[in-house]
Amino acid sequence: MPADSSGNFSLLQRTCKLVVLLCFLHISVTVVFYVRSLDLRFAFVHNHKTQRNDTQSNRVTRPGIASPTEPPGPEEEPRLPQETEPNPVKKLEKCPETSPLLVGPLRVEFNTPVSLDQVRRDNPNVERGGRFRPRDCEALQKVAIIIPFRKRDEHLKFWLHYLHPILQRQQLDYGVYVINQDGDVTFNRAKLLNIGYVEALKEYDYDCFVFSDVDLIPMDDRNTYKCFSQPRHLSVSMDKFGFRLPYNQYFGGVSSLSKEQYLKINGFPNNYWGWGGEDDDIYNRLASKGMSISRPSGEVGKCRMIRHARDKENEPNPQRFDRIAHTRQTMYQDGINSLSYRVVRVDKLDLFTRITVDVGKP
Ligand code: BGC
Repeated sequence: MPADSSGNFSLLQRTCKLVVLLCFLHISVTVVFYVRSLDLRFAFVHNHKTQRNDTQSNRVTRPGIASPTEPPGPEEEPRLPQETEPNPVKKLEKCPETSPLLVGPLRVEFNTPVSLDQVRRDNPNVERGGRFRPRDCEALQKVAIIIPFRKRDEHLKFWLHYLHPILQRQQLDYGVYVINQDGDVTFNRAKLLNIGYVEALKEYDYDCFVFSDVDLIPMDDRNTYKCFSQPRHLSVSMDKFGFRLPYNQYFGGVSSLSKEQYLKINGFPNNYWGWGGEDDDIYNRLASKGMSISRPSGEVGKCRMIRHARDKENEPNPQRFDRIAHTRQTMYQDGINSLSYRVVRVDKLDLFTRITVDVGKP
């Protein structure tokens, strides 16, 4: 081999070696950086997932109200940490003792018919089954409103029209339960109220029960539909009675009892068939247990009753005087501990829950 060609060859050989060395160096550096970046990515994804889990476990859940479920998102791309700050979990403050949303006296009239569609549109925050809770604060009480019912749809529309806005302004966590007596046998108001108590508790952990006739509308939203340290009589000043109590022991119309107060008297009687007396029996039960009746002032407690003819199959109960005279003896055998009925159907409607029940016969 000639001398200059052998010189060229060794130059080429050295150049190749250098190139190979440089390639090797380049690959090594790339591998090192790649592995380091993998570590970082792994650590970040791990942190990110932990943060998400924490956020989810802290989220305030709302039993009884169906919360919209989040659609499962695509696998999330890791992003820079500062972009992925979890939403701060907002623990709601308790609502104030007196709602700042109250407006006081209200105009109540029954001349203009109302439609359920309109009531629905007026109350977009009321959820299916007639459930509501304030968004900005944690309600002080969980209130089940129980309405004994049969064939009074026109009255119920007025009730929903007036009461939903009032109850929302009162910042209550509430649900409306219309307990509809099936069939045509004699009406039994107090038994329907007992059923409402049991059925509402199957749905949610209510701590207060407001028992309201379907035809009574408060004329002042300061008359809060909640419970007090003593059983509350709310419809104290009805137009029907000249805006006064018909008698001191009167406990009819609208009243509220906490779970504890209700259980203390073994609930309500089940054997008052037809009109009258059951509210006096409830009053006797409360009095016999040493409880007193709490009431709003005559001004705040004003309410209007929707005029109507007496319902068929709800004639005055001739046995009521005798029964009222014996409440103290009968109340331990007749009440929530002896309640029996059959649920015919449950309808979760937009503005209320309707529970149709077979209450049996007198
Ligand atoms: C009846 C009650 C009724 C009240 C007012 C009383 O005689 O026993 O049930 O609520 O009158 O109408």
